Amino acid sequence: MLSLIVVGIIPSVIAALFLSRSYKSRAVSIREMNLKTQCDILCSSYLSKGDLNSVVVNSELMLLSSIYSGRLMVIDRNFRVAKDTYDLDTGKISVSGEVMSCFAEGRGTTLYDQNNEYIELTTPITNENNEVTGVLLASISTNEIVQNCRYLEQRALIVIILLSVIVLVAGALFAELLVRPFKDVTSAIEDVTDGFEDQAISVRAYAETEQITEAFNKMLKRVRAVDNSRQEFVSNVSHELKTPLASMKVLADSINGQEDVPIEIYREFMSDITNEIDRETDIINDLLSLVRMDKKAATMKVARTNITELLENVVKTIRPLGLKKEVTITVKESKEVFAEVDATKLSLAISNLIENAVKYNKEQGAVEVSLKDDRKYFYLTVSDTGIGIPEDQKEMIFERFYRVDKSHSNKIEGNGLGLAITKSAISLHRGSIRVESKAGEGTTFRVRIPLVYETDEV
Ligand code: ADP
Repeated sequence: MLSLIVVGIIPSVIAALFLSRSYKSRAVSIREMNLKTQCDILCSSYLSKGDLNSVVVNSELMLLSSIYSGRLMVIDRNFRVAKDTYDLDTGKISVSGEVMSCFAEGRGTTLYDQNNEYIELTTPITNENNEVTGVLLASISTNEIVQNCRYLEQRALIVIILLSVIVLVAGALFAELLVRPFKDVTSAIEDVTDGFEDQAISVRAYAETEQITEAFNKMLKRVRAVDNSRQEFVSNVSHELKTPLASMKVLADSINGQEDVPIEIYREFMSDITNEIDRETDIINDLLSLVRMDKKAATMKVARTNITELLENVVKTIRPLGLKKEVTITVKESKEVFAEVDATKLSLAISNLIENAVKYNKEQGAVEVSLKDDRKYFYLTVSDTGIGIPEDQKEMIFERFYRVDKSHSNKIEGNGLGLAITKSAISLHRGSIRVESKAGEGTTFRVRIPLVYETDEV
């Protein structure tokens, strides 16, 4: 609306004012020119030769005076008014600057008084010897021009007012038409937000609205995916937490239902209940670790760390498990490796990998851990001679709560959270993890992590 007013109305006002001013100055100068020509003719043809009181001179003066509705005076050398068409000052002395300069210079003068709206014109009357014998002084009013100007301005004002009304009405309609598709986008988004609509929205009126709706649809898809995975996660968590509780209830109920239960049975059942409590605690601890990883880089406590030492410490804690399963763990490292890492998170990630390599191994199997680096990264490899992972499930093992084969998984303890924690921890270090495996032959996890930690901030 504002731009329409600026573009439409303001230039019209300026144009109207400019035209009226131009008309006025042009009309005044034409009037001056015409009067000057008439005065020149009158002076050279009649006044310089004839008797001032002759009928011809009188009638010419009166004619000119009435044509221009002005006053004509003939002033002689003694500044005495010899002739006055208004007959007011005849015989009186009239000394004005214009008349004096006309006498002095022998040339006519023109003066336009804008305040009082009149033109004053002097024309010299000369004799045969070119001597100025008198001056013809003509004063005419320019009121008529001013009135014409006013009339034109009034007309222009009416046109401008009409134009403004048209511009405002057209502007309002045009603006409404222009923003309607954007209103449609807003209401479509509101419908989705309020839950009336759950489809992708589409407003194709302009390329811009199409882009906005496409961007919104993409965002909606992402939000829904996040929401679905959250719901799935919550239902998985509830399920996993309920299983040990259900077992505990069954165990407790069966003791309660019997009378005179021998103390050995009590002990056995209580030890089963303790195992279930341990399982529940493990799940809760792993969930807490995952939540900590999800908080992203803000919780990273990065420091320059001796990775070789860190790896040895992790292996030390897993060795008892290896001994129990008769699995040998060997570590291959050429030299000490240092890197900027969060030691706690990285220990957890490595520990999960080596623990899995032992857990999913065969009796008297082997686990080989190697560590090396180049100028940019360090590389950690964990290989085992275990049961392996089927090709089609290789990518799924990193999902939360995912376990490959439920039948063997039942025998091997675990909750499917270990590799999810490992992957999050490695991602937080801007690293990558890959898995190579052949079912029945063994598995190799390859981890690559930058030696220098880079934050997101630029
Ligand atoms: P958990 O070990 O607690 O079940 P993980 O997330 O650590 O959970 O592992 C997910 C699944 O991936 C495991 O259940 C197992 O089936 C498979 N897996 C992980 N590591 C190995 C491995 N080294 N060898 C064979 N299978 C593995």
